Amino acid sequence: MDQSERLLREGMIDICLRMNREGINQGTSGNVSARWRDGMLITPSGIPYDALRPEDMVFVGPRGEHDAGQRPSSEWRFHLAILDSRPEIGAVVHTHSLHATALAICGMEIPALHYMIAAAGGPTIRCAPYATFGTEALSRNVVEALQDRSACLLANHGVVATGPGLERALWLAGEVETLAHQYILSLGLGGPRLLPDAEIDRVVRKMQHYGPR
Ligand code: 13P
Ligand code: ZN
Repeated sequence: MDQSERLLREGMIDICLRMNREGINQGTSGNVSARWRDGMLITPSGIPYDALRPEDMVFVGPRGEHDAGQRPSSEWRFHLAILDSRPEIGAVVHTHSLHATALAICGMEIPALHYMIAAAGGPTIRCAPYATFGTEALSRNVVEALQDRSACLLANHGVVATGPGLERALWLAGEVETLAHQYILSLGLGGPRLLPDAEIDRVVRKMQHYGPR
């Protein structure tokens, strides 16, 4: 393993630990991947984040192939499908963060209640229809919900956030959780006053250079 690969593997563990520290994940739920060579590195399945070592990250090749002695995250299919279909994306973070998952349990998308929704690329954060975890069907639903967006909800499951790199993807996962929390609070106060699409378009352009790269 060369120095750049080791750094990337260590960076992935750092993102996992921060995901837990920031309270956007619990236990062994969620997973993280980063583009590497012609495939990706992804967190192993079912291992608590505080026990992760750099060598536990699993390399998954372009057709899903991996070392027989390693078990990649059960969600490797949607991670690989996202990286495959979206060349501008370099990292994917998946969480079961509380408020975003509550909306996803109700099959609700997040509307333009705050200008920060532009961080995800448009006036809505869609909710991908439910499919069993780890399946090809879930992978298709996620890729579709992410069209022209960098984040989506997964019905009865959680959140997917992406970025050119790990930092941006983690940051966006936190922003999605904040928007979801704000949405739930505002629903309890009589419902949000939504921003028009034209305003979100303006903010999307303005935010192209905002937030972690
Ligand atoms: P893994 O431990 O296999 O990554 O699964 C966690 C998860 O969130 C499945 O959706
Ligand atoms: Zn999950």
